[in-house]
This record gives sequence, C-alpha cells and structure tokens, in this order.
Amino acid sequence: MKVEELLTEIKKRNVKKVMIQLPEGLKTKAAEISAALVEHGIDCLISADPCYGACDLADEDAHERGCDLLVHVGHSKFYRDFATKVPVLYFPWTIDVNLEGVDFSVIKEQRIGLLTTIQHLWALSEIKVALEKQGKEVVIGGQVLGCWFENADKLDTDAFLYIGSGRFHPLGYRDKKIYALDVEKKTIDEVDTNLLEKRRYANIHNAKDARTFAILVTTKKGQNQLQGEVDSIKKKLREHGRNYCVISLNEINDTNLLGIRADAFINTACPRIIEDSFSKPIVNAQDLEELFSQM
Ligand code: SF4
Repeated sequence: MKVEELLTEIKKRNVKKVMIQLPEGLKTKAAEISAALVEHGIDCLISADPCYGACDLADEDAHERGCDLLVHVGHSKFYRDFATKVPVLYFPWTIDVNLEGVDFSVIKEQRIGLLTTIQHLWALSEIKVALEKQGKEVVIGGQVLGCWFENADKLDTDAFLYIGSGRFHPLGYRDKKIYALDVEKKTIDEVDTNLLEKRRYANIHNAKDARTFAILVTTKKGQNQLQGEVDSIKKKLREHGRNYCVISLNEINDTNLLGIRADAFINTACPRIIEDSFSKPIVNAQDLEELFSQM
C-alpha cells in the first residue's frame, strides 16, 4: 500500500529517473520500490550510503547520475533550509504501533507531553486516550529529532513520553524527565542522560588545555556548520591564543581523523556525533562558551 502511494506521488512529478534514499531500517523495501517504479517505466537507483536523516540528502549523487528527482523516504523536510542539486520528494513512512500490553503505570507524573518521530506521529492520539484513561493530563507535542526539540520546549508539562524504537532521539533532550515507549519491545523506561552529560563535561575538561584544535566541518548539507559558523569559531580560538585547522569530511568519525595532528576537535555538524568514541577530546561548537570559561 505504501509503495503504491509512493509510486502515485512520483508519477505526479512526471520524471524519468529517480534516486531513492532510505534510512537503515527501511532498506529492506528498496528492491520492492525499485521493481514498482521500473514496471511503470521509471528508471530507478537506490542510494545505499548510510543516511542519518533529512539533514543528509543524496542530492549530489542523484544529480551526478542524471536523476530528475531524489525521493527521500522515512523523514520529513529538515527544519533548516538548504539548496539541493535536484528536487526532493520527502516521503515519511508510517509504522504501525500496537499498544496492547503496554504498562503506562510506570509514568508517575500527572501532566504528560507526547513526542515522537515522523513514523509514529499518527499514533499519538491513540496514546493520548490510553494515558487519559489512567487519569493523566496529556498534550501532544509532535515530532522531535535528535537535534531539535522545539515541540518539547513549547509545552508546559511535568514529563514527556517519547514514542519510537531505540533511544537515539530522546537521549538528546535534557531539560525535563523523559520516558521512552519502545514500540517494538512494548516497554516504557525513564531515559537516563547522565552518562552522556558526564562524557560531555569530561570532553570539555580534557579539551581546555589543547593548543591546536581541529574544527570539523561536514559536507552533509543539512549539518554543515549546524552549530556555528567556522569563521566565528576561528576568531574565538585566536582570541584565546589557540591554533586551529579546519577539516572538511563527510563522515565525522575517529577513523577518518586518525592522521590529524590536533589536540582536540570542535564539532560543527550533528551535535550527536560526540556520543561516538573518539581518541581525542571532542566538543560541540554549541558548548564553546563552556570550554572557553574553563581556559
Ligand atoms: S540529530 Fe543529527 S542526524 Fe539527526 S536530524 Fe539532527 S543533525 Fe541529522
């Protein structure tokens, strides 16, 4: 059914060749989507590079390979505008949620805000009703990303319930207690961000004596200087008597940075990257004031 809906959307655009980009969890649909398109006379390529979100579009690849359209499956348009080499069709892919057996009594707070990813947005009304039956006051916040929580920030609640699979998204939120309903395991647990906070402060502490910083810039368009302008970071480092070099790369990870002679890294891209393991201290650009205050 969803493949048919996708096909209808693509056909409306009267294109000859498309690139399909899917997140990891939806790559199992690639062959089916491709077959449906080919059957209707539309040439199709699947991008199998890792895809982290709508911040990370394969539009350059699509353009290079002569596609008229990039179909980005599984995410809605990114909150930040950026130009693309080919038009992009965003096609959110809803995922069914079965609430049978979920124990909502784990949540002790009274006023609850509901947050989720685009795949589960449709299920929030049903979850609201289930919580109201437990006597809770419930408001629907809507979609959040691992780097974007405006829909949480605007709500006045005692706690949040995040609906999804895994903990990538809710672990980025730190201002209020947040529970996660894992739709695959049907469990609700409080999300503990303490370990991430400790690691964040340890990185800041360990970077404060660095003499040379590598400022990391990604070629992923949505993430490019997402946390701050490189020129302003350079200026601040000069003011603090520090040296720097600017490193441009697509995938920011420790392996790709092994040969770089710097004492610490400053990440300007996706703020969640610093949760990976790095052999040198890595600090988000949005935490620079904290870093400079310790110098
Ligand atoms: S958290 Fe990172 S990967 Fe996810 S949408 Fe934000 S920038 Fe992209």
